[in-house]
Amino acid sequence: GFNCGIVGLPNVGKSTLFNALTRSGIDAENFPFCTIEPNTGIVPMPDPRLDKLAELVKPEKVVPNTMEFVDIAGLVEGASKGEGLGNQFLANIRETDAIAHVVRCFDDDNVIHVANQVDPTADIETINLELALADLDAVERGIQRLVRIVKGGDKDAIATKAILDKIQPHLAEGQPLRSFGLDADEQRQIRSYGFLTLKPTMYIANVNEDGFENNPHLDTVRAIAAAENAVVVPVCNKLEAEIAELEDEERAMFLEEMGMTEPGLDRVIRAGFGLLGLQTYFTAGVKEVRAWTVRIGATAPQAAGVIHTDFEKGFIRAEVVGYEDFVALGGENGAKEAGKWRLEGKTYVVQDGDVMHFRFNV
Ligand code: GDP
Repeated sequence: GFNCGIVGLPNVGKSTLFNALTRSGIDAENFPFCTIEPNTGIVPMPDPRLDKLAELVKPEKVVPNTMEFVDIAGLVEGASKGEGLGNQFLANIRETDAIAHVVRCFDDDNVIHVANQVDPTADIETINLELALADLDAVERGIQRLVRIVKGGDKDAIATKAILDKIQPHLAEGQPLRSFGLDADEQRQIRSYGFLTLKPTMYIANVNEDGFENNPHLDTVRAIAAAENAVVVPVCNKLEAEIAELEDEERAMFLEEMGMTEPGLDRVIRAGFGLLGLQTYFTAGVKEVRAWTVRIGATAPQAAGVIHTDFEKGFIRAEVVGYEDFVALGGENGAKEAGKWRLEGKTYVVQDGDVMHFRFNV
């Protein structure tokens, strides 16, 4: 599965968001460092298409795809030098596929701010600087280690060191690797370093209930994100935590009262999905209707491999019906009669929403 680390300064609302996402009810207290151990929650991906397919097929079981969220201990200034929970924080975040950076965009005198004022620009810079310095540290250690190997003429080491030498000054200026412009080959060459500032990142602007409009803090985050080509998701984490506590029926009523079409969390989860370049295909059997996660651009055998590696190895063909056709034509039989049921081979590139069935050799 794929995971997304939730980071941000202490007291910006990370635990509140994480709790709402997982409804796990871990403590969110008005106290920096209250989230010490990384907490992991597996969150179902909201997808109305899955409900629609289940209505049609009436399976015994319905399984959504999921995204893992990791609540990472609060970062403070100096973390890259090992202050606070710095080293632990950085090790945890290195393991994640993407980063959700929570930024405080709400005023509340009852909630202490670590720097004593709500200032999204300074907060974002603090976090980004620590991440860049952590990457710089990894680069410098890497260069030191490679110097000797390069002398032996190892081609791979030479290529890696050339890239590390090139990016070192950029990081030393506190700039993220995202903005360096490494090409795909270069990124592959240094992948094993797990650089933090290369990870796909979104900003979660944590606003008050009435802070979605006319909120200068939110405007600031939007401007910063636009300059970095990053995504912003405005959410009121406190409200989301309340919504998450409600039973389904109550929740629907509450959302309607608030004029919301869906919980804000659904936008967070979908944004995480988009950030990672992921899409969904479905299997729709009478036993189980299920959503599966696959990278955009994946071929049919790769999609089969998500279910089981044997499906990929022994792949023969995929039976495919597009989601819209499947629903409009009342399922597989209807799709067959209308000529919308296709057999696809090894080079077929999966489309978002495809309803698939794989044929394979064992
Ligand atoms: P963390 O240290 O980043 O994990 O922050 P927490 O999630 O523990 O939140 C710190 C405090 O801020 C708690 O008292 C929360 O109830 C409060 N809080 C979180 N989100 C909001 C929000 O959107 N509005 C307001 N007013 N308070 C919030």
